[in-house]
Amino acid sequence: MLIEKIETLVVGGGQAGVAMSEHLSNSGIPHLVLERHRIAERWRSERWDSLVANGPAWHDRFPGMEFPNTDPDAFPNKETIADYFVAYAEKIAAPIRCGVEVVDVRRNVGHPGFRVKTSEGVMEANYVVAATGPFQRPILPAIAPEDAGIMQIHSNAYRNPDQLPKGAVLVVGAGSSGVQIADELLRSGKRVYLSVGPHDRPPRSYRGLDYCWWLGILGKWDAAAREPGAEHVTISVSGARGGYTVEFRSLAMQGVLLVGRTESFKDGVVRFAPDLADNLARGDANYMSVLDEADAYVDRYGLDLPEEADARNIDPDPLCVTDPTLELNLAEAGIASIVWATGYDVDFGWLKVDAFDEEGRPKHQRGISAEPGVYFLGLPWLSRRGSSFIWGVWHDAKYLADQISTQRKYLAYQTSAQVRVR
Ligand SMILES: Cc1cc2nc3c(=O)[nH]c(=O)nc-3n(C[C@H](O)[C@H](O)[C@H](O)COP(=O)(O)OP(=O)(O)OC[C@H]3O[C@@H](n4cnc5c(N)ncnc54)[C@H](O)[C@@H]3O)c2cc1C
Repeated sequence: MLIEKIETLVVGGGQAGVAMSEHLSNSGIPHLVLERHRIAERWRSERWDSLVANGPAWHDRFPGMEFPNTDPDAFPNKETIADYFVAYAEKIAAPIRCGVEVVDVRRNVGHPGFRVKTSEGVMEANYVVAATGPFQRPILPAIAPEDAGIMQIHSNAYRNPDQLPKGAVLVVGAGSSGVQIADELLRSGKRVYLSVGPHDRPPRSYRGLDYCWWLGILGKWDAAAREPGAEHVTISVSGARGGYTVEFRSLAMQGVLLVGRTESFKDGVVRFAPDLADNLARGDANYMSVLDEADAYVDRYGLDLPEEADARNIDPDPLCVTDPTLELNLAEAGIASIVWATGYDVDFGWLKVDAFDEEGRPKHQRGISAEPGVYFLGLPWLSRRGSSFIWGVWHDAKYLADQISTQRKYLAYQTSAQVRVR
């Protein structure tokens, strides 16, 4: 059997795989990227039709290339983003082989490196970088009813309002996906219930500058770990329609019926936690804290930025907040579909090495796994808040390329030392 030998194998040709390839090339490390579909496939086929980037084009990109023919302050759509990575891969001449799936990776016994089974044969690699994405497997919470007699889809399968049957829709989860999908469904004329859990909701812009800039200048993208107690807090932002601050009360005024966290389904009745007001208050506090920190920054450095006192005005609580719905009969409410915007998990079933905890979560330090020679890239909070985002993954990839380079030097020294001893 012919076995192809690769120095460093990168699994996954999304933005993480492309960034990794750039840094490996810059370090002179021979490598190959295997992608089971196309470059940046998830941007093309696992996102809804109208999705645009949550960050502006000047921010959500790699340092080495701007988005062509795009206003830097605009929010590129998903196809433009995918095209960007294809063009970037071409620009850096990334050795990416598409249409090849990695199905099994194991450590060699008795000699270094890994044996890699792919859909196209077997390979050997000295180093393996798992760049298969932060959001691999959609999470459907255990409370999702098995047979509610209505259509249920995860946000990764949602494409557009026409896909849903006539009738009202319950969107569960009010992170960036849930809130954008709810907004789109409302605009299409649907009656929408939106189940809102704990969230952060930074202002889209403040004093003339986008929140991506503020979070950057305030050092928040670089936060190394979530604040204790905020592990399950999602971030609600939107670049849709030119970008706007997510304001749940204003969504309610436009017709969305807000409810608290979805707790259970039984006999056609869905129950919600009585936490809607608390969740909104928490989101408000996060919003205000960004304004406060921005103002303090402006004062401290004497920046000439326009004041924006109106930004502190918060709409009064609508009825659905002051008198929250705690249970709803799906049929009576006319709910014909549920969109679960409840996030994702990882799935490393193909990576059969000692780099996971009991729950199957990667064990690593800044992407360097517990299994020597195996690296993770692109995971949420891999090294910081920005790790799973376009621009953040590029910096993590650079760090990993340095680590692989260092390991190669140790190996090279060992080989030369053996020669000297002989
Ligand atoms: C709805 C949504 C909106 C987002 N918007 C933004 C945004 O505006 N700005 C931003 O910075 N980030 C955004 N993100 C986060 C992040 O940028 C994307 O999730 C991005 O796709 C992650 O890139 P990645 O390369 O790490 O992983 P992925 O894009 O998931 O790429 C991994 C690749 O690995 C391939 N693969 C998987 N398993 C195998 C295997 N066994 N063998 C071979 N290939 C394999 C997959 O086909 C895929 O192409 C968004 C995420 C979501 C879900």
